[in-house]
Amino acid sequence: MDLDRHDFELDDLVAKIKENDHRLVALQVPEGLKMQALEMMDSIETDSAAKVVLAADPCYGACDLVHDKMKLMGVELVAHMGHSQMNIDSGMPTHFIPVTYDGDPELSPVLPLLTQHRAIAESRLASSSDLPESEEQAKEKFLDAVGRVAPLEGAKLGLVGSIQHLHLLPDYVKRLEKAGFDVEIPIGGERLTFPGQVLGCNYSGDDPSIGHYLFLGSGDFHPIGLVLHTGKPLAMLDPYTGEATEMSFERIERILRQRFGYIMQIADCKTFGILIGEKPGQMRRNLALRMKRMLESHGKKGYLLAMDHVGPDLIDFYPVDAFVNTACPRIAIDDAVKYAKPLVTPYELEVSLGEKKWEHGYQFDEIP
Ligand code: SF4
Repeated sequence: MDLDRHDFELDDLVAKIKENDHRLVALQVPEGLKMQALEMMDSIETDSAAKVVLAADPCYGACDLVHDKMKLMGVELVAHMGHSQMNIDSGMPTHFIPVTYDGDPELSPVLPLLTQHRAIAESRLASSSDLPESEEQAKEKFLDAVGRVAPLEGAKLGLVGSIQHLHLLPDYVKRLEKAGFDVEIPIGGERLTFPGQVLGCNYSGDDPSIGHYLFLGSGDFHPIGLVLHTGKPLAMLDPYTGEATEMSFERIERILRQRFGYIMQIADCKTFGILIGEKPGQMRRNLALRMKRMLESHGKKGYLLAMDHVGPDLIDFYPVDAFVNTACPRIAIDDAVKYAKPLVTPYELEVSLGEKKWEHGYQFDEIP
C-alpha cells in the first residue's frame, strides 16, 4: 500500500481530544493499516495529552466497533479508522477517521467492459418480465446468476466504490457521461453513510433502473457481494494499479453451485449450531431466535452460540450436524470451505426447509 498517497486525517481527532481533554483514547484500525498503527499512536500522543491504547483484535468493518470492554479499561473515546458510521450504537463515544487515497485512474481501460455490460443490461431490460414458472425452471435460475436478476426498469450504469475512493465519484460521473453513459450513484440505506458506498454485507443502493455497475476499488470482496446480490454485470477499476477487470459470471455461478451443494447437504441434518455475532453491527439476535423456532417447527434442534469472532477452531468441535450463521454474512459465503461442517446463511436454511422458494434466484444475506 502506498501510504504517502493516503490521507489519514488525524487533525480532527487531535482537536477533539484536546477540546474534551480526553486522557485515554482507543485507536482501532483496519487490518491493512496495523503496521502503521504505532506511528499513528506516537503522532496522537505527541500532539495531545492523551495516552493511546491500540484495540489490537482483528477489525474488518464499522460493525466491529470497540465497545464496553474498553469502557471498563477507562477509555473515554474510540478513534475508528478507515470505515464510516453505521446505524449502530456501540455505547462508546466514537470518532471516525476518514482515509482517502489520491489515485485517479484513467477511464479508458474500463470503457470496453462497460460497453459490453450495457448491451447485456439493455437486452435484459427488453426481456425482464420473463420470470421462471415451474420449480425446475426456478432451480435453473437459482444456479444462473445471469438470469436471476429481478425485472429491470432501466440499463443505467451504477457507480460505486470502496470508502477511500468515494471522493472520486462526482468527477467520474462527468467523465462517464462524456463517454456516453447514463450514470447513477446509488444511495443506500441507514447502514451506509455516503452515496455510492457499498459494504460486504449491504448493497441497499441497488435499484431496478441500474442495469450494470462500475466499482472503483481493489480486491473482489465487494464485487462478489454486489453481483451475488444483484446478478448484474460489474466492471472494476483499481485506483492503485489503474487496471480494469470484471467480475465474471462463471465465478459467481461457482459460488452459487457451492451454496446449492450446502443447501442440499443440510436437508437431512437434525442439529444445528446457530451463530450469533457479538460485534455491535453483526448482532442479529431476533434472526437467530427465528431460525431456532423455525428449526423446532420442523422437528430439528438449534443451539444458540454467541461469539465475537467466528472461526473453524471455535465451532468445528461442537456435536451438531451443521451451522447457521447470523453474524457477518460473508463468513458463510467466503470461508465455508475452511469449516468441517456445512455453514449456511439463514436464507439457505429457509430454502432447505422449504420455507423459501427458488423463484427469484439466490437471495444474498444482507444486513440492513
Ligand atoms: S461485511 Fe461483515 S465485516 Fe464487513 S461490514 Fe458487513 S458485517 Fe462487518
